[in-house]
Amino acid sequence: MERTPSTVPRADYDAVCAERDQLLTLLHALPDISFVLDEHGLYVQVIGGANEALYVRGQSLIGHTLHDALPEPLADQCLKLVRTAIESGELQTIEYCLRAADVSLLPEDARRGEDAFAEQWFEGRILSLRSYEHSARVALWVAVNITPRKQLEHYWQEVAHTDSLTGVSNRQRLFERAHTEVERAHRHRHPLSLLELDFDHFKRLNDRHGHAAGDEALRRITQACREILRDSDLMARIGGEEFAILLPETDAHGAVDLATRILNTVREVRLPDFAPEVRPTVSIGCATLRDDDSFDQLMRRADEALYKAKANGRDQACPYP
Ligand code: GH3
Ligand code: MG
Ligand code: MG
Repeated sequence: MERTPSTVPRADYDAVCAERDQLLTLLHALPDISFVLDEHGLYVQVIGGANEALYVRGQSLIGHTLHDALPEPLADQCLKLVRTAIESGELQTIEYCLRAADVSLLPEDARRGEDAFAEQWFEGRILSLRSYEHSARVALWVAVNITPRKQLEHYWQEVAHTDSLTGVSNRQRLFERAHTEVERAHRHRHPLSLLELDFDHFKRLNDRHGHAAGDEALRRITQACREILRDSDLMARIGGEEFAILLPETDAHGAVDLATRILNTVREVRLPDFAPEVRPTVSIGCATLRDDDSFDQLMRRADEALYKAKANGRDQACPYP
């Protein structure tokens, strides 16, 4: 039976209990899940999580700690936030990724089920619960499943960085990746090369066979190139029929080698839907990063090399001298 503290009048105590019951009922009814955690990371109570499509029931966590349940780096991070929330009294927030399979104390069916390996994103909102039973030092951790929002964000990020006609990256992603790769190449003294591709006599193809034939060529040639690139290479459309291919860990020799393979691959491309008789070709300029080079300088040299490939008669690759 619950004990009424002797100093509190009965009526006040009943009112407080009623309010607490109402709040707990409210929390239990919420679709999101909440945990009461003490300053040692012990799960004291699990509340809510009524939406079973988004949350695995967490009753099995009670009496165990964050470190019993979660992968160590995440448990460390969570415990720190719980302690900060208790100490400061201020709201702490975190976004974290978790798979049911990684939470070692969940029921077996939840950890082995069909969805157990799907990454789920959560937003944690952590606040000190000052009036918890016997003034225990605990925090309330409200976990909101934000996976649908994250998936949408990822989708729009992809859309914003992708050329819609060919499916390769656009200029923006090229410049973002180039910034990272140039810095990495300088720091570790690793090679980095760049190819610049321009379709030969593309205007003529459009004029003779129509814009749809030009579009088909753009799609098929980029697809053929992508099939021979490594995952770490990045192909981007930088103009109408101009493309750049960023090649991390590739020296001048490797760049020319790949350019030669691209030339051969493109020569095999056909445009069956609009211009079956056309034999498309491209010209390629190759450049390799030098000490203290910026990406702009690298591009300028690839551009000059491309100009030379065009001047020499097209359908060929030229390295920057
Ligand atoms: P060169 O061999 O010297 O590169 O000649 P070119 O005809 O390829 O070069 P030019 O720069 O004169 O022409 C490029 C053409 O590419 C003109 C433009 O209409 C066409 N183009 C640009 N973007 C697209 C596109 O998205 N679809 C189609 N079909 N054509 C495009
Ligand atoms: Mg051009
Ligand atoms: Mg061209």
